[in-house]
Amino acid sequence: WPYQAKLIVVTDGERILGLGDLGANGMGIPVGKLSLYTACAGIHPELCLPVMLDVGTNNETLLNDPYYVGLRQKRLSGAAYDEFVDEFIAAARAAFPGVLIQFEDFANHSAFHLLQKYRDSIPTFNDDIQGTASVALAGLFSALRITGGRLSDQKLLFLGAGEAATGIADLVVAAMIAEGTSETEARLRVWLVDSRGLVVKSRKALSEHKLRYAHDHPPVTDFPSAIRALKPSAIIGVAAVGNTFTPEVLQLMARLNERPIIFALSNPTSKSECSAEDAYRHTGGRALFACGSPYDPVQLDGKTFVPRQGNNSYIFPGVGLGAIASGTRLVTDEMFMAAARALVKLVSDEDIEQGSLYPALPRIREVSANIAAAVADVAYKRGLTAGNAPKDLIGYIRSQMYDGRY
Ligand code: NAD
Repeated sequence: WPYQAKLIVVTDGERILGLGDLGANGMGIPVGKLSLYTACAGIHPELCLPVMLDVGTNNETLLNDPYYVGLRQKRLSGAAYDEFVDEFIAAARAAFPGVLIQFEDFANHSAFHLLQKYRDSIPTFNDDIQGTASVALAGLFSALRITGGRLSDQKLLFLGAGEAATGIADLVVAAMIAEGTSETEARLRVWLVDSRGLVVKSRKALSEHKLRYAHDHPPVTDFPSAIRALKPSAIIGVAAVGNTFTPEVLQLMARLNERPIIFALSNPTSKSECSAEDAYRHTGGRALFACGSPYDPVQLDGKTFVPRQGNNSYIFPGVGLGAIASGTRLVTDEMFMAAARALVKLVSDEDIEQGSLYPALPRIREVSANIAAAVADVAYKRGLTAGNAPKDLIGYIRSQMYDGRY
């Protein structure tokens, strides 16, 4: 291999987008993500290595497909799986010392556990958990520019309790703690609804990642009832179940809040909790809306609303660039918080005026450079890198960015 990889995106193909277990066919994801790193943050393609860990697949259609390229076996699990991932990490770090490893589209049961296992010892992050969290936090900060008040004054109700939901919840709690709120109080501002209803303490056999948001509350089986019971200021949809923010849900939120925060983050579009048009129409144009799928501008009562996607592609390219440029030993939650703050700074008053909680995508390289500088700044300040901070940090970051035009 003639190049020195600085960035690996790795998947095991078990939960590709909302499409499930694609086995070795999941390789498109690391390739696609790395293309975004190059396009959005100017990371040179030579530095990027896509990896697909073929541990088999449980997808019967693929196992029976004569043209399937992957291993024809059921997925490895348990200790054998862990040892295989360990072996990959050790080999990658031996070949490419200091390489940043981004985990992508692993299923719940592997994603949380692998992040926990490696995050305090090597430069790594999980974009589905942490990148999503950062972009959602940025959206909330943007919404606060309109509603006023502190993040800690919000009450968030999630539809979905998986990687995206608990990732966002954890970063929101960390940001509330940074505002001076106690951890106990902060957690009480965050509630989850999964396929079995509100996540409450009395429920049996809750998975590990849901436990810290299982509060004392009588059981509630459906989402509208949870809204009535809890009176949230924000609802965040990350369950990948389409049309769950029904007119009833949206009208309820509009009755409870002057400016209800409505984030329908699931994708693709068929899984979106509601369309932009529905969000504005059923709240009388008062929704502060972000989506995970693309929607055209909406005309309502003579006003044009321009919804923008709360998509983690605003965040991860800049985080990767900042991590590589600074040579950080770890990628920390503080960096994802700094990334969210850097992103919000680039949301203009005109954006806010037209209902956009994120900057326009054509500004993505500027966004990524600023996020990278914010991330690198944390690395230098926290002593996570051997070097000293360059005087002109943003200038240094820009000098590292590859421009594909020729
Ligand atoms: P996941 O599988 O980890 O979590 C899904 C969660 O939804 C699970 O907790 C499950 O119990 C819950 N759920 C399933 N059916 C439900 C129902 N009927 N009612 C309530 N909850 C239900 O998946 P994830 O990684 O958290 O992703 C979820 C969605 O968010 C996907 O559509 C994904 O594409 C999207 N997403 C968007 C972004 C973005 O940048 N906008 C980022 C990450 C994920």
